[in-house]
Amino acid sequence: MSKETLIKNARVWPSAHRDIIEDGSILIRGGRIVKVGQFRYRADVEIDAGGALAMPGLIQTHVHLCQTIFRGIAEDMPLLPWLRNYIWPLEAAHDPRSLRASALLACAEMIRSGTTAFMSMETTRHTRAVFDAVAETGLMGVICHCLMDESGGYPPIAEDTRDALAYCDVLLDEWGDHDLLELGVAPRFALSCTADNMRRACEYARDRGLLLHTHASEQLEEVQLVRERTGLYNIEYLHSVGLTGPDVGLAHCVHTEPHERELLAETDTRVLHCPSANLKLASGIAPIPEYLEMGLAVSLGADGAPCNNRLDQFMEMREAGLIQKPRLGAEALPARDVVAMATEGGARTLRRDHEMGTLDVGKRANIILVDQDSVHVVPSTDPAANVVYGHISSDVSMTIVNGRILFEDGDFTTIDADALRAETRVQRKELLKRGDKVLLGV
Ligand SMILES: [Zn+2]
Repeated sequence: MSKETLIKNARVWPSAHRDIIEDGSILIRGGRIVKVGQFRYRADVEIDAGGALAMPGLIQTHVHLCQTIFRGIAEDMPLLPWLRNYIWPLEAAHDPRSLRASALLACAEMIRSGTTAFMSMETTRHTRAVFDAVAETGLMGVICHCLMDESGGYPPIAEDTRDALAYCDVLLDEWGDHDLLELGVAPRFALSCTADNMRRACEYARDRGLLLHTHASEQLEEVQLVRERTGLYNIEYLHSVGLTGPDVGLAHCVHTEPHERELLAETDTRVLHCPSANLKLASGIAPIPEYLEMGLAVSLGADGAPCNNRLDQFMEMREAGLIQKPRLGAEALPARDVVAMATEGGARTLRRDHEMGTLDVGKRANIILVDQDSVHVVPSTDPAANVVYGHISSDVSMTIVNGRILFEDGDFTTIDADALRAETRVQRKELLKRGDKVLLGV
């Protein structure tokens, strides 16, 4: 019989719209939750939560692990020059070692700040290095290989579609049976992929039951360029090539027309909301309350470190809640709905709502403990208000994924943080040397 772990003396918050179970316990066996409630039990391993909040692990559905090592390089710039002049040349300069350091750094930051599962968009090469790195950390995730068959202004990053899908075959051979990680397919966005590339990506993913992931309608300039090229609004165009549906995550959806919103609702397409990145790149404010009103599944993500600069879901929850209020009034997007996006919404997007997003029997034990004694949350007792407006991510005292403790009282259990910091600095220098200095302007 596998080892049992008991979390006791916790304020157990099973899901965003349920009440707290005071002095609650959670029993874990074989990586899954087997009992939740007020009960006493003797387990092999006992974790005294000391009155901490025990809540579902946070789920980020739009991040770029490959970009974490670019943090702080391209600041205070609009989207298209930011992409063409900095992000794509840097992605093209990655080798497996720099990519590994970047992915590990992203995982460390996510684990530290309470994210237990994610969906990422990587670059057009070396995605194997990302799988290797994430597997070592113990996080759960959908790692999407990026497809770009048009250079979008930086030729070295583009890949022939056939070669890109052949590489996906290799990744599927190696990682297709992994318990915690999945491959996804990510044609980058309408301006860096031909229609043929996007159609073939959809066909490939659907034949194999993989998730699809792209960027959509982040900025007005992008929407206008797509209209000039195709005669269609961006979401209409993505729909025409197959990129809508419950297996598709569209990052941003900031600028959408009423008929495009209807299309998103009719096709049950997933919206991936990245409020901090939308503010920093001056993209705008996505109409999230309107999407939720239409029944759309919305989830949250930090996007990449160069446009945020953190991968901190607590920050994203706070931003998501606050930015709607000047637009629609103080009642807009209440805190519990924000927590639901950051947990259950993410689980739906990852198609793992039977496995994560709430603390229920049979689900994976993806649990975070959040300190209730920080002076910035005392004396409030409402968990949603605390989590969205009060807590900062350093209040996370423990992160558990699939029943395994990955972070406890300041220490990582699967990552050597000192070695990672040193290696990241070395790899960043090497990466910049390889990068195109003319385009980078460094
Ligand atoms: Zn992105």
